[in-house]
Amino acid sequence: MDYSFVVLSALMGLLIGSFLNCLIWRLYKNETISGRSYCPKCSNMIAWYDNIPLFSFLILRGRCRHCHKKISWQYPLVEFATSLLFALAFLKNISSPDLGILLARDWLIIASLMIVFVYDLRWQLVPMLIVWPVTGVVFILNLLLGFSWQSIVLSGLLGAAFFLIQYIVTKKRGLGEGDIWLGLLLGIVFPTVGELALSLCLAYFTGALIGIFLLSSHKKEWKSKMALGPFLAYGAIITLIYGQKIITWYLSLL
Ligand SMILES: [Zn+2]
Repeated sequence: MDYSFVVLSALMGLLIGSFLNCLIWRLYKNETISGRSYCPKCSNMIAWYDNIPLFSFLILRGRCRHCHKKISWQYPLVEFATSLLFALAFLKNISSPDLGILLARDWLIIASLMIVFVYDLRWQLVPMLIVWPVTGVVFILNLLLGFSWQSIVLSGLLGAAFFLIQYIVTKKRGLGEGDIWLGLLLGIVFPTVGELALSLCLAYFTGALIGIFLLSSHKKEWKSKMALGPFLAYGAIITLIYGQKIITWYLSLL
């Protein structure tokens, strides 16, 4: 195997991760994505040598060169995670004849779910400006990969219905409208029902574990809300990369 492509994928992930950090902030602030990067605390422009993914954070020891205020850990974490996930996605698809389309699809899904993860965690909102167009593009890419439109639509509706029912039953208190759209996206991403189910199971199982931990350590009250989006994004990313392996392993147990 040629490892140089793995390294290239990781570098690509670093660059995209850096772009995602900028995009997340500008989506929230409703700004255009053109224009130079600036410090969100003092608004000073960031020079190119202070804007190198991961390395600048380490060299500056996590502080802005101008105002010396702390740079959020979100920046290096998103860069590192995107880099790692891009490389893992490449390794997963390496022997497929559809490597090009699979990589485009998986990298797009990883990048957009990374935005959902951070955005919903920080502001309890699902960024629809990302979710809607990505849903459309993934639909087309899955068609190109040979899934029938019927199976993609059916799975999308299943994903959306799963959250719509909870939304109605809990009378809008349990989850938000954004989660229904996320359900649609996940259904479109995973046209095979097994993987859709796995991603939802992972999200709910992890959410329950963290919920119990937060309650038992008195960091949260029973009535406080926890955003669902970060768990859905996490469950979907794990499924995207390890889904087939987990399902094969699970079926071998039966
Ligand atoms: Zn600053």
